[in-house]
Amino acid sequence: MDEPKNAGVTQPLLLTGGAVYTRPGEPPLRDAAVLIDGGEIVSVGPPAHSNAHVLDCTGCSIFAGFWNCHVHFFERKWANAAEIPAEELAAQLQEFARFGFTSVFDLSSDLRNTKALRERIASGEVPGPTIRTAGEGLVPPEAMPADAVLRVLGMMPAPMPVVQTPDEARDACGKLVAAGVDAVKLFASSNSGASLLSEEVMRAVCETAHAAGKPVFVHPNTEDDVMRALRAGVDIIAHTTPRASAWKEELFGLARERKAALIPTLRVWHELLRHDRRSLQGQMTANALGQLRAWQQAGLTLLFGTDAGAVDENPAEEYALTAQAGVPFHAILASLTTGPAKRFARGEALGEIAPGFRADITVVNGDPTEDLVRLADVRYTVAGGAVLYR
Ligand SMILES: [Zn+2]
Repeated sequence: MDEPKNAGVTQPLLLTGGAVYTRPGEPPLRDAAVLIDGGEIVSVGPPAHSNAHVLDCTGCSIFAGFWNCHVHFFERKWANAAEIPAEELAAQLQEFARFGFTSVFDLSSDLRNTKALRERIASGEVPGPTIRTAGEGLVPPEAMPADAVLRVLGMMPAPMPVVQTPDEARDACGKLVAAGVDAVKLFASSNSGASLLSEEVMRAVCETAHAAGKPVFVHPNTEDDVMRALRAGVDIIAHTTPRASAWKEELFGLARERKAALIPTLRVWHELLRHDRRSLQGQMTANALGQLRAWQQAGLTLLFGTDAGAVDENPAEEYALTAQAGVPFHAILASLTTGPAKRFARGEALGEIAPGFRADITVVNGDPTEDLVRLADVRYTVAGGAVLYR
């Protein structure tokens, strides 16, 4: 336990004894070892003698590093990220590594602060996941709770650009792109439904973001929010909408045409509804599971994400609910690895266990194909060839 968190970053690593899942849909290699050097996967094959540091993975399953595509660095614990003592910051970031996350996508936070956090990781000062961020999300008027409410919820108030016209939307989106976001996040409507982003406003954002090569995520509250967003060209739906019952057929057709992806975020509804009556909780969960099931059966892309920040970092309940929706193992593995890598890694070799790929690896105890919740029972997390968690 006293070993440094990044032990192995300069030393080759050999992962032996586990079942190696090279990519979703392929059967695991039972007698293969994974050799890592210089931050890359060098070989996957019969264990050979080498001077590498051995990580014993007996009884484990070995996967490409997991992504959590819906997190927020808006909790107070990340405030003033440039000044948090390195040891404390590393301990806070461990909450991602201990659940196997080597990459996270922040879908709205204070961009300057999140960039400072990301820089401390990227420079090697503090061990942590690769962070991509959308910076401040674009909102319709009165979409966000008052600052006082945000403080009670443990969040840092961040100024979210309010956009009401296509020109305002283009301008706000252009500023975010210039400031270095990796994506743009839209909040399609206010919680009350009193205000919303029109299809034209969302289209203006999508055109501006896409011209800069950035994907667009949307937070929808209703089925109509999802429809407007898809028509406008949004790439990723960041939530199910459990206030609606079944999504209509037209939505799936549009999603297929636009090659849109869905992040279901099932657990956050449980959390937000915990003060409500059981009958309402049951209905909303059933609605969200039904939307996920239909999306999956339509053969559309899923990305894994939990809304960490709004909930804690533990994804176990998200896996359990995903299993309840009947999502098969290969699909959830794709949502954790190849799905996000293809969309967001911009040509970098990421998301599979193969020679030449970045050495982001998640090792879990036991066989999660029998029980998806085991995906949260992590033995080792390796990022860029460094052991982030053991
Ligand atoms: Zn969120």
